[in-house]
Amino acid sequence: RTQRFDAVVIGAGAAGLFCAAQAGALGLRVLVIDHAKRLAEKIRISGGGRCNFTNRDLDVRQPQHHFVSDNAQFCRSALSRFTPQHFIALLQQHGIAFHEKHKGQLFCDHSAQDVIGMLLQLCKEANVDIWHPCEVESIWRSDRSQAEGESADAPATPAPFYLRTSQGQVQAGALVIATGGLSIPKIGASDFGYRIAKQFELPLIARRPGLVPLTFAPQDWAAFVALAGLALPVEIATGQGKQAMRFKEDLLFTHRGLSGPAILQISNYWKVGAPLQINLLPELDHVLDELLQAKRTSKRLLSNVLAQWLPTRLVDTMVAQRTEWQRPIDQVPDKALAALAEQLQAWQITPSGTEGYAKAEVTLGGVDTRALSSKTMESQQHPGLYFIGEVVDVTGWLGGYNFQWAWASGHACATAMAQR
Ligand code: FAD
Repeated sequence: RTQRFDAVVIGAGAAGLFCAAQAGALGLRVLVIDHAKRLAEKIRISGGGRCNFTNRDLDVRQPQHHFVSDNAQFCRSALSRFTPQHFIALLQQHGIAFHEKHKGQLFCDHSAQDVIGMLLQLCKEANVDIWHPCEVESIWRSDRSQAEGESADAPATPAPFYLRTSQGQVQAGALVIATGGLSIPKIGASDFGYRIAKQFELPLIARRPGLVPLTFAPQDWAAFVALAGLALPVEIATGQGKQAMRFKEDLLFTHRGLSGPAILQISNYWKVGAPLQINLLPELDHVLDELLQAKRTSKRLLSNVLAQWLPTRLVDTMVAQRTEWQRPIDQVPDKALAALAEQLQAWQITPSGTEGYAKAEVTLGGVDTRALSSKTMESQQHPGLYFIGEVVDVTGWLGGYNFQWAWASGHACATAMAQR
């Protein structure tokens, strides 16, 4: 027996649950299918367990500034119609307490489970069916539109989709793919969404890990391994000219390379083979002037001078690189001080790679937005087929932007489905 729904959403994560709840509330009969035992695992582990669910700093007139996509303007429409304020209002209606941490980032006071609970409750109130764990084995579409054989004046309803699943066969007027990206495969991430895009001949933008720690060749990193665990505020940049990106955030040394918010942010823009430029002293304008001034007035070891600005472990690692830097400052040639200033304020290093999907928070690339409507998230070629959330080639900065995209794209899709 085939069960019929107005819409089937595949993927019960942030985008899928939100979209299903909205579509259900607008009167559609909705089924959500997820292959995972536990739903919304990414929300549960997000923001260190407190879910950074949106960002107050998102500029709704120019939201694209906080997102990476091959088609920069695409995300504007959905993000300006469902804003952080809308999601905040929803949390407030549900009595969920939250706070701002840093640069507009909003976190639950209690736990990410509050957001999951709210989404599931909204689905329940909207009579959304959720099947899980349930595998979608195949999807096809009849090539006859439902209006065939009816009056010629009746608007043609697109042909329905059929799904063969581990819980039986399903028919749906609309199909929403919300299966997310490839990061953290151990909690259910899969390439399902990209495979469906290929099946329906939608173009894909190459995928790569985003918001991810960067690694260095062992020979380049040997001198810094001992710094693992050390964190400090920096300014970091990559790219040239108009493509250049810059962030002021904390940097964290790891055993294999660099991490922390500064690196996660820049990783979305870093291209393989390109160097990073790091200013380890972003609050000092001219380190060289400061060093030359100290040289005139002090006989302290250079490392002691540096220790007033930087953690001692980092200072020791830096000065160990050159014998001239291991002397009292008044005995260090100006040229060597200039080289040190350059190393501290324009440290240039080239990562060898990333920590990959096992550690990435998101997947860059995905379904090419040029094949979708920015108003509805519907495929241009296949009416009734929608892609929302991370599976789409829209990736946010660190700081709640990815969830805001999940909510906004889910909302755009739900509204459009209800108006069909
Ligand atoms: P997901 O939430 O990943 O949901 C996809 C769903 O599809 C999953 O339930 C999965 O089981 C299901 N699925 C996958 N394949 C199949 C299949 N074959 N069949 C059926 N179902 C399938 N973003 C923020 O904005 N703020 C944060 O604080 C934050 N913290 C993060 C922390 C970590 C460690 C990680 C990994 C990510 C974090 N993110 C954060 C990113 C954010 O979690 C994602 O961008 C967001 O969850 C994407 O929503 P989505 O609904 O598109 O996909």
